[in-house]
Amino acid sequence: MELPNGGVNVQPLRNFINGVFVPAVSGSLMDTTNPATGEVITQLPLSKAEDVALATQAACNALPGWKSTTLEERIEWLEKIADVLEEKSEDIARLETLDTGKPISLSRRVDAYRSVANFRFFAEHATELPNLQYEANGAVNHVHRSPVGCVGLITPWNLPLYLLSWKVAPALLMGNTIVAKPSEMTPLTANLLAETMAELGLPHGVFNLVHGLGPDVGQAIVEHPDIQAISFTGGTATGRIVAATAAPMFKKLSLELGGKNATVLLDDAPLDSIMDDLVRASFTNSGQVCLAGSRILVHNAIYDEFEQRFVEAVNALVVGDPQDEQTQMGAVISRDHQSKVESYITLGLEEGGRVIAGGTSAQVPFPNLPSQGAFIRPTVIAGLPISCRTATEEIFGPVVTLHRFNDEDEAVAMVNATDYGLAGSVWTASANRGHAFAQRMDSGIVWVNTWLNRDLRTPFGGVKQSGVGREGGLWSMNFFSELTNVCVQR
Ligand code: NDP
Repeated sequence: MELPNGGVNVQPLRNFINGVFVPAVSGSLMDTTNPATGEVITQLPLSKAEDVALATQAACNALPGWKSTTLEERIEWLEKIADVLEEKSEDIARLETLDTGKPISLSRRVDAYRSVANFRFFAEHATELPNLQYEANGAVNHVHRSPVGCVGLITPWNLPLYLLSWKVAPALLMGNTIVAKPSEMTPLTANLLAETMAELGLPHGVFNLVHGLGPDVGQAIVEHPDIQAISFTGGTATGRIVAATAAPMFKKLSLELGGKNATVLLDDAPLDSIMDDLVRASFTNSGQVCLAGSRILVHNAIYDEFEQRFVEAVNALVVGDPQDEQTQMGAVISRDHQSKVESYITLGLEEGGRVIAGGTSAQVPFPNLPSQGAFIRPTVIAGLPISCRTATEEIFGPVVTLHRFNDEDEAVAMVNATDYGLAGSVWTASANRGHAFAQRMDSGIVWVNTWLNRDLRTPFGGVKQSGVGREGGLWSMNFFSELTNVCVQR
């Protein structure tokens, strides 16, 4: 898809069903806009249940052929997809920046890189699949693995192709066929993936893409009786609707949901060397990362020094035009989201906090950026009780709260005082101490003296209201397979 720099694609996007790009049955379209400028980029199909039905039919028809391919053949497909995506890395980065408003350097380093890496990783990791056999009572138990069937993949806007490819790769690898729905706010790189599948000649119907709104297209995917598994990444409130719809149909369900992650600085945290990492954990992608450390808990002994140095580092962040190579923080996803995030800054003040960096765009405007752009300065709020709404609800924007603690027991209680349990980090001079503290955190993943350091073989997912199930390595491959047992008496 050709899009001039920051410009408009005159051709609306289309759904990708049964190997063909088609408009929505109704012919309806909706706009997708660049959040950094407010300009319309292009249009996408405003699809409905009838489009999902066509895509599901195509996926079901393609299933017998695809599941009869060998694992080695599917590994080759993943490698081919990775090769072509790698050739298109710069396009992926450019489109992601246009759609999300994130800095181009971040789109290259994270989005484009991981989208390719996801396909490569699963292609390589598949060769390590264990061939399980258990012997007992004079019999051999063979564990067989077959595809689940036709699966629905629903993804959010913050890391569009990164998260879609994280599901598509293991689903294809294990022999499933796919109906996918990206966020309607970020459809461009999902379209690029569909173009890639078409160029490569992936058998028709194996990968289908339906654009449109969540309550229409997403809901129709979850409701469709022929879709046997749903892998969903998004907010906890939406996850609740997905679970309520899918559970009575006994669909296999993977839910990767929201977070309110704590960054904990123990009294021996080496402030000299960690400040850049703490800023990165707080404000990467304008804080729109499910793993972002949005509550920073600091031991009283180092709090004052930390606060002063952190605010200096945050104020030094370059916020601006996402196309500029020097920009470190771009726009948030939309004007609506900007309003939501800013309402939390206002709430933080009402709840007794002090804004010590940033603030709403009304308080600290951006004279040199487009007036229709959705920009917010990186914002730090201090002095809030840990139990207030600002410190416990997911804001999903460039806002962090700072809190003091006196000892580790108090810190653990503060970390665990939310309904979420996705991720967190602990910073200390002692790795052993950090490791011990990490195990007391109700959290699917904890980093000690690092952040977003990912080994794709490890289990990824949240506890409490941050999700159900695990993705990554063997866990993804297990989710996208049915494991059955044949017991053969000797
Ligand atoms: P949403 O929950 O709003 O949307 C996620 C996806 O679900 C979108 O494609 C959306 O479509 C779709 N959707 C909406 N309603 C329904 C429905 N009734 N049935 C099925 N699908 C539906 O999340 P956001 O896009 O706002 O993403 C941000 C959230 O994602 C944050 O809470 C963040 O923490 C979480 N997240 C979690 C991650 C994890 O790994 N745990 C990783 C990344 C993000 P549409 O966009 O059209 O509404």
